[in-house]
Amino acid sequence: MHPTDFTLRGALDALNEGIISSVELTQAHLDAIGKLNPRLNAYITVTGEQALAQAKASDNRRADGGAGPLEGVPLAIKDLFCTAGTRTTAGSKILGNFVPPYESTVSGNLLRDGAVFLGKANLDEFAMGSSNGTSAFGPVENPWSRRNDPDTRLVPGGSSGGSAAAVAARLALGATATDTGGSIRQPAAFCGIAGIKPTYGRCSRFGVVAFASSLDQAGPVARTVEDCAILLKSMSGFDPKDSTSADVPVPDFAAACARGVKGLRIGIPKEYRLDGMPAEIGALWQQGMDWLRAQGAELVDISLPHTKHALPTYYVVAPAEASSNLARYDGVRYGLRQTAADSDLRDLYERTRAAGFGDEVKRRIMIGTYVLSAGYYDAYYLKAQKVRALIRRDFDEAWQKCDAILTPATPSAAFGMDEKQDDPVAMYLNDVFTVTANLAGLPGLAVPAGLSAEGLPLGLQVLGRAFDEETVFAVGTALEHAANFTALPGLRASA
Ligand code: GLN
Repeated sequence: MHPTDFTLRGALDALNEGIISSVELTQAHLDAIGKLNPRLNAYITVTGEQALAQAKASDNRRADGGAGPLEGVPLAIKDLFCTAGTRTTAGSKILGNFVPPYESTVSGNLLRDGAVFLGKANLDEFAMGSSNGTSAFGPVENPWSRRNDPDTRLVPGGSSGGSAAAVAARLALGATATDTGGSIRQPAAFCGIAGIKPTYGRCSRFGVVAFASSLDQAGPVARTVEDCAILLKSMSGFDPKDSTSADVPVPDFAAACARGVKGLRIGIPKEYRLDGMPAEIGALWQQGMDWLRAQGAELVDISLPHTKHALPTYYVVAPAEASSNLARYDGVRYGLRQTAADSDLRDLYERTRAAGFGDEVKRRIMIGTYVLSAGYYDAYYLKAQKVRALIRRDFDEAWQKCDAILTPATPSAAFGMDEKQDDPVAMYLNDVFTVTANLAGLPGLAVPAGLSAEGLPLGLQVLGRAFDEETVFAVGTALEHAANFTALPGLRASA
């Protein structure tokens, strides 16, 4: 077996049994990156030397009997997580040469547990997008292609497109990602891998470049549900450096995967049956229901009546917070600075922000500034906050009737790199099934469950109660076993 084909769990076992060393495993991934990254562009920065040094230190710790839970496992880190001494760009020119002096809590937790970092994964600029097409470092290509149209290059989804493409193409065993409106689940679904956005507050946001602070959550993507569970355990935990971090115990998520779904009540929200939804998405959803029922779950019809307002609500709240968070990129303290000989302070701001931000980020800043402006605050921002409360209440009511909710992950399979790029509204529709979980702060998992008629991966989504990722993992594992998704992308290290 090619070493990049291990699951994360399989790699840990192989390391424990001495079948492979971390240096060998890391080198195999670096070779794979060397071979495929020039085409896929999944990594913005590859930290090969550092990775091999970390792997060597890891092998030594293992030899000394001090192996951590992720000892020696090579990972990709979304380039939104600050990594001490390694450039962190957020996919933007405005941070292009920013080298953080500190480590994000989540990446620090992974290092503490023995992980090896291969490099920084590409993303939409400031995590704004659904295709990875807005990165200042160029788009990422999905390692999958359509059966009858192999030459059309497809998007990996976004914003965590580099993370998802890297994991699918075997350029990492797992990766960190972030999800503000779907950026873990949608790229996972497009790339045929698993990904979980945990409950808001589960993972610290300290050192994660902020997009929309009340929605942003870190989480893992990996090739199996169990691998996500292993990674999430290390990433999670209370952090006094993040005021919204939850001081709750971190369960053994991997143990929860094997619980089964017998007796669980699975909610099927009627509002997720969209007009014009492709038939194959509806069919996959029905298949998911049948799988869970066959394993002993009970299906219940539920209603989430405010779902139809979720996208517009998200596209008011997220830009509002973004416009505020991105005010810090002013050319004064760090990152890009653009001046002219006669620049005053205002001119410095204008030049720096005009040159440093891409079109989508500028669009969000303008929307956000507009909805927060004195004349429109009540009509848009305050109204959106009220609708957000109703969306949350829909879920509170649903949990009276069910223990988890099953929906499709995305309304379509991956699309072409040239499609939708100049139609922001079509792009925003990608998040129709995912944004509600962010607005309500709930955990959501995407699991690869089948192939489209074109041979592309399609995912199902499992939503759960706040801080009940364990049930989400149990349901996700049940779907994963039933789906037995063994298809492989054409572009992968071992092909
Ligand atoms: N696609 C959504 C957006 O563009 C979500 C992004 C995310 O979750 N970071 O805002």
